[in-house]
Parts: sequence; structure tokens; C-alpha cells
Amino acid sequence: MKLQTDIVIIGSGAAGGVLAATLAEKTDKKILLLEKGGYYEGASIVQEELGARHLFADRGTRGTKDGSIAVRGGECVGGGTTVNVALCFDPVESVWKKWKSEFGIDQYSFDSKANDYGITGLNMSNALKHVRERIHVHEPPDDMVNDNNRLFSEGCQAEGVSFKKFELNMKNCLGCGFCTVGCKYDRKMGTMITYIADAIQNGVEVIHNFDVEKIQFSGQNKNKKATGIQGKILEADEKSLSNRYPAGFVSISAGLIIVAAGAVESPALLFRSKHPNPNDTLGRGLIIHPSLPIIGVQDKKLVNYRGITGSMYSDHFYESHGFYYECLFGHPIYAAGMVPGFGAPHFDMVLNYPQINGFGVMLIDTPVKKNRVLWNSFSQKPEIIYRLTEGDKKRMRIAAKKGVEIMFGSGAKKVMLPSEEPIGPLSRPTFKEKSQAEYCNELTFLPHQTQITSAHCQATVSMGEDHELGILNSRCESKYVKNLVVCDSSSFPTSCGANPMVSIMTMARYQGDRVAGELARYGL
Ligand SMILES: Cc1cc2nc3c(=O)[nH]c(=O)nc-3n(C[C@H](O)[C@H](O)[C@H](O)COP(=O)(O)OP(=O)(O)OC[C@H]3O[C@@H](n4cnc5c(N)ncnc54)[C@H](O)[C@@H]3O)c2cc1C
Ligand code: SF4
Repeated sequence: MKLQTDIVIIGSGAAGGVLAATLAEKTDKKILLLEKGGYYEGASIVQEELGARHLFADRGTRGTKDGSIAVRGGECVGGGTTVNVALCFDPVESVWKKWKSEFGIDQYSFDSKANDYGITGLNMSNALKHVRERIHVHEPPDDMVNDNNRLFSEGCQAEGVSFKKFELNMKNCLGCGFCTVGCKYDRKMGTMITYIADAIQNGVEVIHNFDVEKIQFSGQNKNKKATGIQGKILEADEKSLSNRYPAGFVSISAGLIIVAAGAVESPALLFRSKHPNPNDTLGRGLIIHPSLPIIGVQDKKLVNYRGITGSMYSDHFYESHGFYYECLFGHPIYAAGMVPGFGAPHFDMVLNYPQINGFGVMLIDTPVKKNRVLWNSFSQKPEIIYRLTEGDKKRMRIAAKKGVEIMFGSGAKKVMLPSEEPIGPLSRPTFKEKSQAEYCNELTFLPHQTQITSAHCQATVSMGEDHELGILNSRCESKYVKNLVVCDSSSFPTSCGANPMVSIMTMARYQGDRVAGELARYGL
């Protein structure tokens, strides 16, 4: 099948959904939004961990090449915004300023009166305002703070560590506690039920179960231009809405191609399309925001599975050490994977599940070229290669030690890290008293021994005007191929400095506005 359109957007997550809605609102162009995963409306959500695997990349098993770090991502209409826990952080202005000075990034004004690129009202403040309103960013009421989050704030208080309430993108949340397996009640304001609904209303066609295999180029060298894409429509499963088109091979010619497939799949798509990579920088500098769970066992039963999963966090150490503590909670299968040990002791620990509380360290990791995403043409899958740097390990040790102390401060009788590493006199990091937290200084975070997780991949197709890692210019355009824009979590030059969803959506709103004001640049 052959289709023709003005603009094709690949990926319907945080970035793709916002881009589609913005371009539909501000232009009269024909737009196709292509999504690899299915279209799962609330009614199909079953509120079970195993019953939600189809919402995730690699059915929830995606990880680094060596299997040591789980790397979660959404693969469905709405992408990560359908399965995430709705924690909202405004773009960190100091990070964008640093990108300007260190990567030569241009425009992205935070002044609400600025007209970037000469386009009236184009600036980050206006883009953020739109995003915050559309996805209903707000602070949850006190009665939605559940036991787990309350204990975290009590632990922080006991340790003199400042803490705050998250802002969240939910509307009339019922506090069912199942955010990580998708919201059955359409109360989580991800792109599927906000921006994508708007886009459809304004004429955008969404084709889901569409796996884009390649971007097509014409011309050579400086005249290389993106002209379309090739891919295939797969059969939708029984939980998904059905597609208008039959399964099979499809090619689409388009005036402008926008890649928004996320920080793992966007570089993979560019690799398999043979996008120029003259300095071997494509996919390099991967950021994952490594996360280390801190697990406590209390002497009473808790109700952590109800209420909002994450309502409390601490940025106490953000400026000094570059990490956050974020209160989150796992359902039984996830929790069983995090609780250390094997066999009978592990089973006994899992029986303690109703008494377990937890929060995580989220580290702002340092970009290094060795951490990267590649395309493996044999397995036909992206490969994620990642190791903590020595500097990041040092900060993670500090975070682990203080985290263990906070957990004891919350009243825990026992504190555990998901690790089998012997430290000090302990055969593994299971602590019976607060003074033992100092043994965290011996953690080496050995792969396959200490479990680090990630859900925040970024910076693999980076913007950078005059930086060695820069594949894109400040407009998110490929420096090497005309009419090709890459705008999603991959476009950040480094970590955006916080949980990334709102930063990505703000950049997408900004770039959507910008493209709409510069259509002639793309011959549209
Ligand atoms: C479990 C979980 C919890 C999280 N919690 C939070 C949180 O609370 N707050 C926060 O700020 N961030 C959170 N995040 C991170 C946030 O959701 C992501 O950073 C964000 O969604 C990334 O946006 P994106 O547009 O770059 O990619 P995505 O949202 O991942 O969207 C990319 C889309 O492209 C599709 N795609 C990929 N390849 C192709 C292809 N070849 N053809 C067609 N389509 C393709 C994918 O299926 C996907 O739907 C969480 C993520 C996860 C997984
Ligand atoms: S906690 Fe709220 S937003 Fe999350 S799944 Fe339940 S109703 Fe939806």
C-alpha cells in the first residue's frame, strides 16, 4: 500500500502526541501519526502486572545488552505517558541555559514575551503554560497521600532532609493505585486522552500497530533529503482498537518527517535507515537516570497499593549531588523482583509484602560516549550499552547511605537494597540498624549483583550546534538530511535534570509551533 501526506510523525508518546496536536491546530496540513504499539483505551486495561505487558517495549522485558539493567518504556498509543506515574517537573531552566553555553543551543527563550525565530509568542514559557493546562498539572490533595508516601516524608523529617509534594498530571484521580499498568478510568492525562484526542479532532490520522522500518532519502551529501518512510502495519491484538488499514507493507511519501520514537528507538531507526553518522556520534551519550530502590520492612501492615503511587519526593541533594529521592511503590511481581535473596528466605520476604515500603534514588547521570544505543541488524533489535561512571557510582553511594538512614527514620525495622554485594561485615546490603548505613560506602554496583532500573532514556540523537555529540541543530533538524526533524527525549544534549515528561512535551509544543511558523523551510 502507498500513502501520501504532508507531515508524518513517527511515535505517539510524550513528544509525538504534542507535535501532532500542535501542527494540526496551527496548520492545514495533512498529518499522519504512526505508532508501533496498539491503541488501548481505558476499558481494555485490566489492572494486573502481567496483563499489562503489551503496553511496554519488548513486552516489559527491555534491558541493557548484558541484561543487568531493566530499561522500561511504553509501546502503545501515548507511549511512556500511558504507563508512567504522572510525576511532573517543569523544564529546569538552569539546564537549558547550560545547553546554550556548552552545546551552542539557540533560542528556547524562557521569557514569556520572547518571539523566538521571529514567530509571535514562540517561547518555552508559553509552550509550558499550554502543556501544564492541557495535561492538568496540579498538586494532589493531602488525603491522596498514602502510607508509603507518608512514611517517606516522616523519614525525611527525622533525618532533616527537605521533601515536597509532586505535581501530577491526573484529573479527578480515584487513587486506585494502578498507574503503572495504565489508567482504566482515563484519569491520567497522558497524550492518548489529551493531545492525541485533540489531534484526531483536528483531522490527524493515527495509524497504530505501524512499525516504521526505514526513513527514505533522496539525493547525496549536502542534498540528502528525507522523502518518506517504509514500514508495516501489524495485526492489532484483541485489546486494541482496530486499524482502518489492513496488515501489510506500507510506504508513505511525505514533505516532512518527524521522528519521535523515543531515546532508544529513534537512534535505532536512524541507524537502520543509514542516516549519516560521520563522527560516530549517533546513539552515543545515552542518559538513563539510573534508579536504586531502597526497601524497608515495617512492623505493621501498610496500605500502599491504594492512593497515588508517587506523591512525595525530595530534591534536597539535587544542587549538591545531582540526585532525587522519589517515592514509588511496586505491585507484587515487581516487588518480588526487587527484594533480594533466593529460595526460602526470598519467599519469606515476599510474604512480608504488606509491611514493605519503598522509595528510589533517581540519579542525574553523567553523559559519556561509551554509553549508547546501537542497532543490531542480526537480532533486528536496538542494543543498549550502559555502565555507571566512577563519579556516578560515588554519588550513588552517598544517595544509598542517606536513603537507608531515611528509611530507618521512617520507622523501618529492616532496610534492604536490591543487591547481593557483600559490604563491610554484611553478606548483602540488608541493614538491621541505622549505623550500618555507612557500609554503603563499599557498594560497587556490580552488574547482575545490584539492581539498577531505568525508565528515563534521553540524549541519543542530541542537539548541539557546535558540540561533538550534536546530530541535530537547535531546531531539532538533522544536520545531515533536509526535511528530517527528531524531536523527543533523544534530542536533549544531556539529562534534562528531572523526570523528563513535561520537558519533552514543552519542547514538542515549542517545536510544533516553530515548524508551523516555518512551513516554507520544508517546502510545505
Ligand atoms: C514506567 C514508566 C514510568 C515513568 N514515570 C515518569 C513520570 O512519572 N514522570 C516523568 O516525567 N517521566 C516518566 N517516565 C518517562 C517518560 O514517560 C518518558 O521519558 C517519555 O514518555 C518519553 O517521551 P518520548 O516522546 O521521547 O518517547 P515515548 O513516550 O516512549 O514515545 C515513543 C513512541 O514511539 C513508538 N515507536 C517506537 N519505535 C517506533 C517505530 N519504529 N515505528 C512507530 N512507532 C515507534 C513507541 O511505541 C512509543 O509509543 C516514565 C516512563 C516509564 C516507562
Ligand atoms: S491512581 Fe488515578 S490516575 Fe492512576 S490509574 Fe488510578 S485513577 Fe488512574
